[in-house]
Amino acid sequence: MNQSTKQAEWSLPEGYDLYRTIDLAKNQKENTIVSVLSLVLLAVVFALGFLIREDPGAAGEEYLPVMVAALAAFFVYIVLHEAAHGIFMWYFSKQKPHFGISLQYAYAGSKAYFRKIPYLIIALAPVVIWGVVFLAVALLTPGVWFWLFWFLLAGNFSGAAGDLYVFWQVSRMQPDILVQDDGVAMRVYAPFAQPEA
Ligand SMILES: [Zn+2]
Repeated sequence: MNQSTKQAEWSLPEGYDLYRTIDLAKNQKENTIVSVLSLVLLAVVFALGFLIREDPGAAGEEYLPVMVAALAAFFVYIVLHEAAHGIFMWYFSKQKPHFGISLQYAYAGSKAYFRKIPYLIIALAPVVIWGVVFLAVALLTPGVWFWLFWFLLAGNFSGAAGDLYVFWQVSRMQPDILVQDDGVAMRVYAPFAQPEA
């Protein structure tokens, strides 16, 4: 495989410089955009759930075990979300990613420098893969348990607001960038203009 078709580099190639840093936790404006997007996605997906699934007339207490299971399942989902990022990081870089979890966030990070298209796939993998899975399972699930998977679907889109924002930003960048994602902040590198020889 030659340089230009490799999906990721293990070290920053000669001629590349830091072009932009995306740190959603530190940048107040980006943090606000992502928080608003997260709430909008949560509301829209929930509203769609009420549109496609009529209330079967279940009693209020029938929803209690669903809500408890949904909260427990959401913690499992957080791990599955980061796993989806991590598996694609590993696939494209052939390098082990690292994972972390704190009270505020969970992350998958890598030391590799990813090319644009592979990085866009890494960013979008969890929301697409788990979105399809939860949607399919929810539609096949009868009764009140539909809401367990619909809750996960809503959480999947809402929780991926940061990923969607990063996807949108990176997709508008020049094609020859390299992205390093340590799990918390993304550093985008671009080739600087070489002086004529
Ligand atoms: Zn993510």
